[in-house]
Amino acid sequence: MKFYNSLTKKVDEFITHEDKVIRMYTCGPTVYHYQHLGNMRTYITEDIFEKTFKYLGYDVKRVMNITDVGHLKSDGDTGEDKMVIAMEREHKSSKEIAKFYTDEFKKDCKLINVRWPDKVVNATDEIDMYIKIISKLLDTGYAYTSNGNIYFDTSKMPNYYELSGKKEEDLVVASRDDVDEDHGKKNKADFVLWFTNSKFGNQELQWDSPFGRGFPGWHIECSGIAIKYLGEYLDVHFGAEDAVFPHHTNEIAQSESYLGHKWCNNWIHLSWLLTSGIKMSKSKGHILTVSKLKEEGYNPLAFRYFILGTYYHKQVDFTYEALEQASSAYSKLLNKIKQINKEGSLDKELFNIYDNKFKDALSNDLGTSNTLTLLYDLLKDNSVNGTTKLELIKSWDQVFSLDLLKEDEIDKNLEIYILSKIDERNEAKKNKNYELSDQIRNELLEKGIELIDTREGTKYKVNN
Ligand SMILES: [Zn+2]
Repeated sequence: MKFYNSLTKKVDEFITHEDKVIRMYTCGPTVYHYQHLGNMRTYITEDIFEKTFKYLGYDVKRVMNITDVGHLKSDGDTGEDKMVIAMEREHKSSKEIAKFYTDEFKKDCKLINVRWPDKVVNATDEIDMYIKIISKLLDTGYAYTSNGNIYFDTSKMPNYYELSGKKEEDLVVASRDDVDEDHGKKNKADFVLWFTNSKFGNQELQWDSPFGRGFPGWHIECSGIAIKYLGEYLDVHFGAEDAVFPHHTNEIAQSESYLGHKWCNNWIHLSWLLTSGIKMSKSKGHILTVSKLKEEGYNPLAFRYFILGTYYHKQVDFTYEALEQASSAYSKLLNKIKQINKEGSLDKELFNIYDNKFKDALSNDLGTSNTLTLLYDLLKDNSVNGTTKLELIKSWDQVFSLDLLKEDEIDKNLEIYILSKIDERNEAKKNKNYELSDQIRNELLEKGIELIDTREGTKYKVNN
């Protein structure tokens, strides 16, 4: 398999430490708020990668963290802990906040068929592991104490800027917060491994350690969890593109100085989904989430379909127009599949020809949009019988995860939505609010749903 490796900055052949086994680490969410659609693009793509690895015959061992302490507002060493910001905002304990937003994230993952990784670890559950790593780094001179905090000495890592391609002089105090730059640092890029000089006063997010009572830095959490659960050699590390610096750069520095050897050869960074083009009226003052899309009447899987049509290493604009196009294409696709009759017997030769093309497209830098094209080619191909088509679709849906053969459930959800809109419209008509009633009719029409008023009440037709 080939993929874009952000460590080497080119498309590389995927090489693992152990044949056919992939130890995969993905940075999870900081659970202080909802995960917006941009975040979800990252999780969908990681899910597609994981399922692709499995489809290609790899045994995947995947770990994801949940950050519930130490991630400061700046992504570096300045600003408040994001969890503390949420605690103050919602007047809840950090545990309650973490649980609530982890559950919401889980729910959204389920709506878009993102499989929950086998091993998901809360950062606050692994404090001992961070202490173990930091103690060794202090012993070996990679870390130092200053101003009450433990810092990593980046001057000890000659390849510190390898992943990011940055230069030290680029690091002009990147502090957008009005927080004083820490004068205890030896080098500008040095970062905190353990804070004892707590900014939070006497609150719950603190632990005893040999270096004093305090809390871990964000970066050490991922190194600690990855090494503890996946061992000394990681095959692939995933994350969003904005995590390259400082987060992943610092993970590499800590892990390699702790382990004494190269940690991970393959780094995959997922590009942003740009949402600046969105008319905020639809999600005023809120974070646009998968659940919100569902409330607005979209099938969340249409969002997954949209992401499948993109290349993971390229930024993409998200607009409602694009989502509507994806929705319409997706429902047409489901309809076409529904019309396939299960006839003839499985043609193994044709099955393999198509399936190899599918694997080739995925192996070639995760060509998901090419796999969708292949699916449309298959549907059009009269030389393939219904049974073979359905078997291929069933097999490919292990990666697509678009519920391509579960159309009934989707129809039911759509029906519930349409009926609720019809009720809303009847209520509006009863109140002589014709403006609202027309608005509802037009809103549905935009989604390809036509309302027909009859003597027996309002009926509907879904146009594809
Ligand atoms: Zn991470």
